[in-house]
Amino acid sequence: MHGLSKSIVLSGLSPERLAAALEPLAPFRARQIFKWIARGARSFNDMTDLSHTLREELSAAHTLYGTTIIGRLEDPDGTVKLKIGLTDGAVIEAVLLRDGEGRQTACISTQAGCPAGCVFCKTGSLGFLRNLAAHEIVEQFLHLRSIGLQSAAPTIANIVIMGMGEPLLNLGELRAALSIITNPEGIGLSKRRITLSTSGIAAGIRELADTGPDLRLAVSLTTADPALREELMPIARSNPLPVLKEALHYYQKKRGRRITLEAVLLRGVNTRNEDAEAIANFSRGLDAAVNLIPWNPVEGMTFRGMALREPTAEEITRFSRELTRRGITVTQRFRKGRSVSGACGQLGELGAGDSPYYF
Ligand code: SAH
Ligand code: SF4
Repeated sequence: MHGLSKSIVLSGLSPERLAAALEPLAPFRARQIFKWIARGARSFNDMTDLSHTLREELSAAHTLYGTTIIGRLEDPDGTVKLKIGLTDGAVIEAVLLRDGEGRQTACISTQAGCPAGCVFCKTGSLGFLRNLAAHEIVEQFLHLRSIGLQSAAPTIANIVIMGMGEPLLNLGELRAALSIITNPEGIGLSKRRITLSTSGIAAGIRELADTGPDLRLAVSLTTADPALREELMPIARSNPLPVLKEALHYYQKKRGRRITLEAVLLRGVNTRNEDAEAIANFSRGLDAAVNLIPWNPVEGMTFRGMALREPTAEEITRFSRELTRRGITVTQRFRKGRSVSGACGQLGELGAGDSPYYF
């Protein structure tokens, strides 16, 4: 029994499952411990409303957390990237972003690596190692909050699920993690403050529509030219644009929320006027806004044998204008965290000589 309970990590359990894992302890004790985890207790020893003896017994029998911060990089713009070590030696990254008003957003990973293989994304180039467990997702939030607390803004206002991995290929564990993070007895973050970005897994979008959680949805469209999209995002072969659009219609019918279509802009690749035209056609009939993301450089990434490049300022403006002209609402993502490779698509960039996942 002892060995078994040690292998369960308590930070990833709902209050009900926590109570079961701690049996025969009284259920109200489990609720106390759930609250302590949400408040950022580092160990059972911090749980001062438990008796000293109980704290020692719990420490001997149970594992509170399963991950540790093993590296921290800070960008002059305030972005902080954490490298987080998992018990099997894998390494993931999570990023804390700050906006002009000091509001903090946590950017969270859902997989170690990613199986989608988008040609412009560092994480995609690493290949896929494994799905993260619920506790490994919850703990990213707790780690980011623990470093963020020293800043002017006392808490994390938003979560974007835009770190390493494809969230809709790990929806079960992600859902468990989000239900802990949004539990009003614990961390209590509002679902409306969570944005999930997907590369466009149609089945996953339908599942989200049917069973929630009810969060904001962003889809990495990148381009609405079918052949180009399949080249840039191999996952599009099994999720072609018409199937994706059907799924988005279904989602919107059920959830009624505006969705965001993200487009990473690659110089000379997907910024032609016909690309703007195709995106405008794709978004017709959907309640959607388009978010333009200038590509963040990743060394060594190529497309059709040529190095990928950032779009020029003129190219971004022109493309944006072409979309607006067609009645599309356009937003542009600010570049953050680039000096620590903590920006979109740069996660997984380890120092020279490091293997992709293991230290
Ligand atoms: N796998 C999910 C979420 C993580 S990627 C997805 O693909 O949506 C989050 C966002 O970063 C996506 O919109 C993706 O298109 C974008 N992205 C990937 N690589 C990038 C890069 N090098 N520069 C800028 N954005 C990038
Ligand atoms: Fe995976 Fe998203 Fe990167 Fe594509 S952009 S490889 S889906 S993390």
